[in-house]
Amino acid sequence: MNAEELRKDFPILSERINGHRLVYLDNAATSQKPRQVIDAIRRYYEHDNSNVHRGVHTLGSRATEAYEAARERVARFIRAKSPQEIVFTRGTTESLNMIAHGYARAKLREGDEIVLPPSEHHSNLIPWQQAARATGATLRYLPLQPDGTIRLEDVEAAVTDRTKIVAIAHVSNVLGTVNPVREIAEIAHRHGAIIVVDGAQSVPHMPTDVVEMDCDFLAFSGHKMLGPTGIGVLYGKAELLAEMEPTYFGGEMIDVVDLYESTWKEAPWKFEGGTPIIAGAIGLAAAMDYLEKVGLAEIERHDAALAAKAVERLAEIDGVTIFGPPPGQSRAGLVTFNLGRVHPHDLATVLDARGVAIRAGHHCAQPLMRLFNVPATARASFYLYNTEEDVDALVDAVLEAKEFFG
Ligand code: PLP
Repeated sequence: MNAEELRKDFPILSERINGHRLVYLDNAATSQKPRQVIDAIRRYYEHDNSNVHRGVHTLGSRATEAYEAARERVARFIRAKSPQEIVFTRGTTESLNMIAHGYARAKLREGDEIVLPPSEHHSNLIPWQQAARATGATLRYLPLQPDGTIRLEDVEAAVTDRTKIVAIAHVSNVLGTVNPVREIAEIAHRHGAIIVVDGAQSVPHMPTDVVEMDCDFLAFSGHKMLGPTGIGVLYGKAELLAEMEPTYFGGEMIDVVDLYESTWKEAPWKFEGGTPIIAGAIGLAAAMDYLEKVGLAEIERHDAALAAKAVERLAEIDGVTIFGPPPGQSRAGLVTFNLGRVHPHDLATVLDARGVAIRAGHHCAQPLMRLFNVPATARASFYLYNTEEDVDALVDAVLEAKEFFG
């Protein structure tokens, strides 16, 4: 894998930012798009655009075929048993809300428990708060170790026969920790619970095999994996999707509609009320082709190596605090840090003046910020087009900020 070569596929990486080469290190927020994805979307609009599942005309068939082929592409990408286990959504947030709404609310009863870590993205936390509030179930939080990891013995202790749902990110968007979801799934299943995995930060960066992982639901977003915004995926085991209620009712998802009662299609179409995100699904399929051509295992190694180097170099700077696993310990391709008492927004502004784009804020994880006792942090996150030169630019810019703020 040659990141320098890959960069040529990404038109935006030639942008000059404040007179500097763009060093894009905000990939955990959203990734950039290669020409191949942009072209696939343009080709669809220029040659095949039509509504799906409706028209008897040629374009209607082409659009439907392309859309359903995208579903098959996604199924292959995450090794699902069938394309019917793939629901297209707007993104991780919508997928998780649909599970919490259409599955959890019907299943949960007073006294039931939902187990989750306090480090979850708000998208994998608030839907469960709402489901608990609506049903009388309670949330039970797993303890985090100082390095952000979760111990399996703590999961064993928290998950009981009262547990109905375990909700957890495969990779934390703040800590960069990789949670042992396979082992956690085994513990959940032993107690008759299901596991919902937030794959927003894992599916773009490592090989995913839902059968091997044995997750019951998996949610992820297209825009974090070279695809367009507005498309995401809800994977569910066939038997669970069959039980789950639709969230959106209307066109496309129905079987027979009567004045007082209606029936719907089977999964996944019953979950896709209204005109679906056709061009988005086609763009996502092109993104998956691109990622598989490069190789997910290669990408995983590449991103983690850059993050490891960044952690090591940043940790040497006096005043820098690293959150999550310390230098030398394994982590995914992102690093969250602070520079002394410099507010992360100020730090990010100084970095931006040098063309270095990082994220500053609470990263949609306010409870975790409270645990760390900080209002916000800075985060640099890597992807396949980042290089060692980008790590150098990050470190140089942080050193410069240190000088600037004293
Ligand atoms: N979960 C995690 C771990 C994330 O990092 C994100 C994105 O920041 C989300 C969920 C939400 O993704 P989206 O905004 O695409 O719905």
